[in-house]
Amino acid sequence: MTVEETYVELHPTSKKIYARADRSLPSGVTHDGRFMRPFPIYVDRAQGSRKWDVDGNEYVDFVMGHGALLLGHNHPRVQEAAMKQLEKGTHYGAGHELEVQWAEEVIKLVPSAEEVRFTSSGTEATLMALRLARAYSGKPAALKFDRHFHGWHDYVVGGSKYSEAIPPGVPEGTLDSIEVIAPEMHVVRETIASRPDIGTVIVEASGAGSGTLPLDEGFLKELRRYTEENGLLMIMDEVVTGFRWSEGGVQQLEGITPDLTALAKILAGGLPGGAVAGRKELMERLRFSTTKGKVGHPGTFNANPLSASAGVACLQEISDGSHQRQAIETTRKLTAGMNSELRRLGIPGYAYGQSSIFRLAFGGDELPEARHYDGLDVPPEVRAGGIPSAVYSPLNQAMINGGVHLFGSGGIVSSTHTSEDIALTMDAWSAALTSLQTQGVFAD
Ligand code: PMP
Repeated sequence: MTVEETYVELHPTSKKIYARADRSLPSGVTHDGRFMRPFPIYVDRAQGSRKWDVDGNEYVDFVMGHGALLLGHNHPRVQEAAMKQLEKGTHYGAGHELEVQWAEEVIKLVPSAEEVRFTSSGTEATLMALRLARAYSGKPAALKFDRHFHGWHDYVVGGSKYSEAIPPGVPEGTLDSIEVIAPEMHVVRETIASRPDIGTVIVEASGAGSGTLPLDEGFLKELRRYTEENGLLMIMDEVVTGFRWSEGGVQQLEGITPDLTALAKILAGGLPGGAVAGRKELMERLRFSTTKGKVGHPGTFNANPLSASAGVACLQEISDGSHQRQAIETTRKLTAGMNSELRRLGIPGYAYGQSSIFRLAFGGDELPEARHYDGLDVPPEVRAGGIPSAVYSPLNQAMINGGVHLFGSGGIVSSTHTSEDIALTMDAWSAALTSLQTQGVFAD
């Protein structure tokens, strides 16, 4: 049986649900990243590092709520807080004390956060950060780096990993006010010299795609120095890295103070939520007392009590850095094991990553020792190629057949992943690579 035939055989109920879903949901999914060929799995429940699909198959979960679940599924402290809040109501249509506490927790943890405005997602957080920056700087355009992902609103989808051309549906005029360049300081300098309308730089703190294309060492520091010296605002997108790379994110690790920070995911403990945090002078533009033109901001579910309750509990739980360290240690063991298996089987490819997120890339002529965990020694063309399309589906299917749910071209690790999870993942990895080799998937 081929990998795909086994996949189909193991998931009869998912197959049925997909056939039904495809009639009401385009492609049967609600997030592009959840689509899979020939059909995605549909999940019934989750606990800790595991989840179970509608056919009763159990998985070691490396999707981890797209990065929201540093503490794994249903962490008792977060769950208890949310259950308690559920009894008290999910929306008051008014302010509440938990949102104040939530903001205070963010300010305690994130070095650059002087004030906070909550949104409902990371996309909304980068949208608001860019608007605030434009309002404050008075300059209409911003600089973004190639393939850096900041969500799906009009300003940030040009030059994303999904499309180099104008993304369908995005007005061309919108893209005039966002310049996409390579993350290299000399390109930043050249661009700024020729575009006086640019007042802001937005950067994904991990490098493109949650560390898929890591930034050169020292780049962020230099970018901060340059933006400060040239009167530009710097927005750090810490939607993924915030509370994960360290309790205070990348900015804490690197000692960088951006003007604004976009946050989401772990922020809300597994429920929907995002935030813009930053310097008072910028955040001031959201105040009714501002004399310089208030930036409007409604949003039905901003800081809703349920998300706030989970967010407060989660941020308190992760505040001593131990969950982050635990997840990072597990990720290092995983990538080391995955790399040694690739070398043993003679398959050109790499597992690398940053913090507690790992990425997979296949290709390259030779297979040097992947020494550095952060992927900086993985040949750049291999990093950029990621998983070739001929490998992508069979690999994901084969891992699912083996009881491991990857997150597309990598995985996100929580503090609840155990050594047993690592062992199971290694078995699945080894079996998947062998099956793919037998099927000739790596042939060219
Ligand atoms: N910024 C980054 C770096 C992200 O990875 C994401 C989502 N993966 C977003 C922003 C958008 O967040 P959301 O999906 O909550 O809209």
